[in-house]
Amino acid sequence: MNFCRRREFLNAASVLAGAGVLGWFGPPSDQAAAAQPANPATSKPEVLTIRGHHLFDMLEALGTGKSSHKTLGPVAQKIRANPKILIKVVVGVDDICAPCEWWDHQKSLCKRNLDKYPQDNENSLTSDRNAIRVLGLKPEHPIPADELYRLIRAKVDKKVFAEQVCVACRLVHQCKETYEPNIEAAVKALSSPRPQ
Ligand code: SF4
Repeated sequence: MNFCRRREFLNAASVLAGAGVLGWFGPPSDQAAAAQPANPATSKPEVLTIRGHHLFDMLEALGTGKSSHKTLGPVAQKIRANPKILIKVVVGVDDICAPCEWWDHQKSLCKRNLDKYPQDNENSLTSDRNAIRVLGLKPEHPIPADELYRLIRAKVDKKVFAEQVCVACRLVHQCKETYEPNIEAAVKALSSPRPQ
């Protein structure tokens, strides 16, 4: 993981709870699609593009509704307000990086901490790929945010988080200590719509 950053997300608290994983392999059903917010310009369901490791960077913001990150915070608020919004999980630039002041659009990399930690970008791409692989996601099949986070809770415990998803990140040892309460809080927050 990286820069944008785990240190924003290290203070969450929540409660362990249980819930099943719904149909996440294929495209959403007509009924589910009807429940999703539409893009006013196209009248098609809106789809957020989120890179794999940002699913985990967003946990505290999803659980608490608070984030000081200028581009991650608004995306998290949008998801909290519309838990059925579709998410397409990708490797590389997403709806959080693209508007961020630190994103270099020509080189397609994050400039933040580039001098001090030159491996951060490559490690973030590795975490993106790991997240997609571990979750068994198909990028061409966006899934509703609430289902995605229940899937994460079902498939990624603290050990998987630290040893398979974010294993390449220099901050993983910090983040793993708050991972489980954070994923529980995020799932709970997405169980019903919240005001923006
Ligand atoms: S460009 Fe992307 S990875 Fe870099 S700080 Fe901004 S949101 Fe985080």
